Amino acid sequence: MSSIQQNIELITSQIKSAEQKCGRARDSVQLLAVSKTKPNQAILEAAQAGHQLFGENYVQEGVDKVQFFNQNHPELAIEWHFIGPIQSNKTRHVAEHFAWVHTIDRAKTAQRLNDQRPEGMPPLQVLLQVNTSGESSKSGLDAEQVFELAELISRLPNLKLRGLMSIPANVTDYDSQLAAFTELAALKDRLHALYPSVDTLSMGMSGDMEAAIEAGSTIVRIGTAIFGARDYANKS
Ligand SMILES: *Cc1c(COP(=O)(O)O)cnc(C)c1O
Repeated sequence: MSSIQQNIELITSQIKSAEQKCGRARDSVQLLAVSKTKPNQAILEAAQAGHQLFGENYVQEGVDKVQFFNQNHPELAIEWHFIGPIQSNKTRHVAEHFAWVHTIDRAKTAQRLNDQRPEGMPPLQVLLQVNTSGESSKSGLDAEQVFELAELISRLPNLKLRGLMSIPANVTDYDSQLAAFTELAALKDRLHALYPSVDTLSMGMSGDMEAAIEAGSTIVRIGTAIFGARDYANKS
């Protein structure tokens, strides 16, 4: 068994025990393997071991990978998630190649993704990126902006609003992690009451996965613990 495959099995079992520990249903949390900067070969190993959800952060790199696997390994049926910042001049590539986008935080981006989604593809599944309290990053919406943008997206036929995503501040104590995730989960519940298609919370990474799962995460995003450390030397 390859080490990538072993890592995925280890994380999957950690997810299972976290689900069990806090009384969540089995398989209610999905693992998104974050493969940014990693070669196709690494993705292939994971996919041939049965893993299907992959996340990419950089548009051009992501598009190259999607095209490679569509052409050479359609049987692996990979579901591609875009989880990086989106500049509005790059929306077309995202609309044409990805199944999910986790990082919508502007009306303009949503509108362009809708307009550029090719006919015949299913609606793009979208999450709004939220800035929970205490978050250091400047990107992400506050609660009021979430409802405004959700209203717009609910009227766009080629986008399907599925929920919320956050990248919380890098805190290590469990209670602070849990507090930030619980806030996001409460916001998702309010949104779900208005938009029944909302069922997804993309939250939790290597250092805060357990707290995210306790708070109700449905997708955890893990890169390094699966593929090893990243080398950014070739990234501009
Ligand atoms: C890179 C990245 C991850 C994965 O981070 P690791 O530390 O490698 O596990 C998760 N979410 C987002 C948005 C990322 O950009």
